[in-house]
Amino acid sequence: MDLSRQYGLFVHGGFRAATSGAAFSVSNPATGEEVCTVAAAGVEDVSAAVAAGGDAWPEWWSRPAVERAGVLTAVAERITAERERLAWTETTDTGRVISETRMDVDAVADLFHYFAGVVRSDEDGLKRHDPQQMSMIVREPFGVVGAIVPWNFPFLISGWKLAPALAAGNAVVIKPATLTPLSLLTLAEITADLLPPGLLNVLPGSGRECGEAILDHPGIRKLSFTGSTEVGRHVAAKAAARVIPATMELGGKSANIVFPDADWDRAVEAAAMAIMMSQGQVCSAGSRLLLHDEIHDRFLSDLTDLVAGIRIGDPMDEQSRMGPLVSEEHCRSVEEYVSLGVSEGARVVTGGTRVSGFTAGAYLAPTILADVTPAMRVAQEEIFGPVLVTQRFSSDEEAVTIANASSYGLGGAVWTRDISRALAVAQAVRTGTMWVNDYHPVPSGSPFGGFGASGYGREVHRTSLDAYSQLKTIYVNLDREPYGWYRS
Ligand code: NAP
Ligand code: MG
Repeated sequence: MDLSRQYGLFVHGGFRAATSGAAFSVSNPATGEEVCTVAAAGVEDVSAAVAAGGDAWPEWWSRPAVERAGVLTAVAERITAERERLAWTETTDTGRVISETRMDVDAVADLFHYFAGVVRSDEDGLKRHDPQQMSMIVREPFGVVGAIVPWNFPFLISGWKLAPALAAGNAVVIKPATLTPLSLLTLAEITADLLPPGLLNVLPGSGRECGEAILDHPGIRKLSFTGSTEVGRHVAAKAAARVIPATMELGGKSANIVFPDADWDRAVEAAAMAIMMSQGQVCSAGSRLLLHDEIHDRFLSDLTDLVAGIRIGDPMDEQSRMGPLVSEEHCRSVEEYVSLGVSEGARVVTGGTRVSGFTAGAYLAPTILADVTPAMRVAQEEIFGPVLVTQRFSSDEEAVTIANASSYGLGGAVWTRDISRALAVAQAVRTGTMWVNDYHPVPSGSPFGGFGASGYGREVHRTSLDAYSQLKTIYVNLDREPYGWYRS
């Protein structure tokens, strides 16, 4: 698999250079080496992509649902056929281990199958108000959707947006993060013969230039953003000024709550997976571990033994369970949080330092900060790295209070064998997803999204078809009698 080429922008079904001729370099976080260069889209390129989308969607939308579903199914099958190439590309670009990126590829293929089913089963409706009056309810696409995605799960998160947006009959202009454009460009390349030209346009480029141009373009009628809460606020304000809807998937600081009656081995391993998978660069990571007093010390000790033994290495190695962070710059920001935690009074139980033996790549040891209290910044702010903070509680109410002492609300879990307690806690925590005796799964059909500063809107569920379309009412009156309102 050779990426030693310059990738263009993908507009109107083909690759092209940026109008300005600008390009940027993409490097492999594990080796620090340049992988390839990629064209950097600017304002003119955004206009060209929106125009291509504007030309493409009416014909796409006019196709019978069964035909659109057939194309989505073909995309799903193509993704599966190209699984190794896509996973390899994602690992090369993000540094996430190959055993994880394969799961993302499978999840996106499944989501295209799912929305192929959704669009076939979605029926325009008829509402009979009484025998004489009825409304026909028709679903229409917005037209051209603008999507902006982050660097942590570029392929998966793009799939979450593309499958429903295309299913609903839209064209999409999507911008990957500057750090990780390759899997989305690869998707465009491998589906170029399946999707009509202009339906999917991929514009790598900076947030400042390409991103802003997407937010400002009058031809974009719906925005979908996944990224930080800080940039999300800006995106939401732009959407508000243009009076267009926006789906906002933002940051998190999710609580993983363990009670003494939890299935011990599973809970210990999941507490590690909740934060250490993808080096903690997961929006819904279980970054706050809440331990009951009775088990606090023993659980922390078992967890420390486990995380200290995680196989860290070349992300292409099948055996690796952690790779490098996405960039040196990001790793330094994570390390600053570790220092901050220490200055706030937290105790480093394990990690906190770089892993030795690597000549390239920002490999940070899995880190646990104990004795953290809810007011500390390390308990409040998203660190987005392999840094777990642990807190303790002595009652169900206290666990819920600590879990809810956050501006965010994206993920979270509760570990107990007591079903009543599990469901009571799951209902009381203000968050978009609560796992019971598990962490991380988001199968197609599970609405995923945030409460509070974690954003609004839901993805991965059939209702996201609503987010990418609008309902129209065509009201019909069968009455032939005069109204008699003015003339009686
Ligand atoms: P980010 O800095 O907010 O960037 C996200 C995307 O927005 C990137 O494509 C970025 O482009 C672009 N962008 C930046 N400034 C922009 C602007 N002024 N106008 C338009 N676009 C702009 O986030 P990140 O650092 O890539 O990703 C990490 C964050 O994403 C974390 O907070 C994480 O929790 C969140 N996240 C949330 C979810 C979820 O589903 N809730 C999932 C994954 C990640 P550049 O690449 O050029 O900066
Ligand atoms: Mg960023």
